[in-house]
Order: sequence, then C-alpha cells, then structure tokens
Amino acid sequence: MYIGRFAPSPTGHLHFGSLIAAVASYCEAKTHQGKWLLRMEDLDKPREIKGAASTILQQLDFYGFEWDGHVLYQSQRDDAYAAALESLKHQNLVHPCTCTRKEIADSSTKVGIEGAIYPGTCLKQPLKLDAARAWRIKSPDTMICFEDAIQGTIHQNLKHDIGDFILKRADGLFAYQLAVVVDDAAQGITHIVRGADLLDSTPRQIFLQQRMGFSTPLYAHIPVATNPAGEKLSKQTLAEPITAHNSTFTLLQAFKFLGQNPPDTLQHENHQVIWQWAFAHWQLALVPQSRAIASFC
Ligand SMILES: [Zn+2]
Repeated sequence: MYIGRFAPSPTGHLHFGSLIAAVASYCEAKTHQGKWLLRMEDLDKPREIKGAASTILQQLDFYGFEWDGHVLYQSQRDDAYAAALESLKHQNLVHPCTCTRKEIADSSTKVGIEGAIYPGTCLKQPLKLDAARAWRIKSPDTMICFEDAIQGTIHQNLKHDIGDFILKRADGLFAYQLAVVVDDAAQGITHIVRGADLLDSTPRQIFLQQRMGFSTPLYAHIPVATNPAGEKLSKQTLAEPITAHNSTFTLLQAFKFLGQNPPDTLQHENHQVIWQWAFAHWQLALVPQSRAIASFC
C-alpha cells in the first residue's frame, strides 16, 4: 500500500514552488494506486497568515487535486507531540537546554550545515533556574544514510553536521522535526515526495523514526524552484501565489519543471484531461536532480 502526502505551511498562499511539490507527490501516489493525504503544517502560529490554510485547500481543489480523508492540522496535535517527547525522555535521549541563541553563537566552536553547533553547555553546567527550557535530542556520532529516489545516496553525521537539535522550543512550540516524524507515522505515510530544501532535515527525521520505533518511509526530493535571483520560491521571497487565471498554463509549467513532457495540445484542455494525461504518463525517473533558474515567476 502506497500512502503519500502533501504538507504545506499556511504562512502564505500556494505558489509555484509548493505547486510542484503537490503535483509530484500527487502523481506518484496516483500512479501507485495509493492514497494522497493532506497535512497542514500550522505549528508556528505566529508565522501563520490568517485564512491561508483554507485558501490553500481552495487552490488545490481548483487545480483539480483530490485528497483522501480529512486534513490533519498540526496545531491540533500537541498531545501526540508531548507523548512522543515523554517517550524520548524515558529513554534518556533528550536533555533540557536554557541557552539563548546568542549564548550558543558565542560559545560554539564548530559550524555545521545549519550554523553554529550547540556545544552541549547545559550538559556540563547547571541549568539557569529562571530561564525557559528547550528540549534537545542527543545526536549520535554515526553516519545516517538513505537512498533518495531522485538525489541518490545521502550521508550525514548528525553529531558533526547538525549537533544536538531541538525537539521543543523554549517558547513551548514543538519543533518541525519532531512533529513531522510523529505525523508521518500517525498517517501511515510510506512515501515522501517533497522539495530538496528538506533534504538536510531527512537524516534527523530518520534518526527520530529509529528512536521512536517507526518505520522509515521511502524518500524522493524534487528540485527546488528558484526566482531569477536564484532564491528558492517561498513566501519569504514573495513568490506570487498561483491563481485561477492561467491555471492550465501554470499546471503544464509544473509538469515541465518536473521533467515531464506534456503535449502542446493539452493547453486547450481542462484540468481533468490534464490529470488523466498525467496519471498515464508520469515518470519519477524523468524528474531532474536540480533545475537551473526557473523562469516562471
Ligand atoms: Zn543549553
């Protein structure tokens, strides 16, 4: 059984970059006679834009996506994340941390792929009593390897490349890495197709899956769409939301970006005909590992 998913964050409306992740994960699920589930990654309430979650669902619906079952909202899953953190505490795998970002930057002697590596301060000295506590998991000094269906073999040493990473922030919010692993397991996800901007997160998620006794899904990381300045299309780079206007053109551009070859005749067809073509012709093997500057925005 194939169970895939699309998991947008409602920090803005759907744009071309998120559309290609939706298209790729949807086509993979459909061509495997699988299910395609939706998850709204609305953990970070302060960054959320009011109404964006329902707009994203309307945009997906307009473009002809049909998802299975109910949409899972991360904002309603705190109990599940808290239970997962408790189980890791019982296994002695996590530790509290009262360091500020500045303290870590000032005391760290190593730089990893996401900046200063946490130097383990709170494991060596007493916690600050009046400070809010974050929870970190101890990163192992072993190589985590996985085979990505598009990007090939990926290796990462969590201790040297990432360091002890946060599962629950000092402000009480659960971290993306914990939430995504708990939710993928709860939704029974077997295959994850998503943007290559998350490739560096995958070893952390595999490590958490192993520690929590979950199976590891198969991964395929699609190339990330960039604007003419070479920046990833995201809400932060003000990527234009996709609209109803020109939707056929946009959808066909998404297939082209993903290395597929939709015939020109599809320009004059409705979304339903385009999806029928897609389910008959989609090939993950045609998706490139990376893409030069996209000319779509
Ligand atoms: Zn600390």
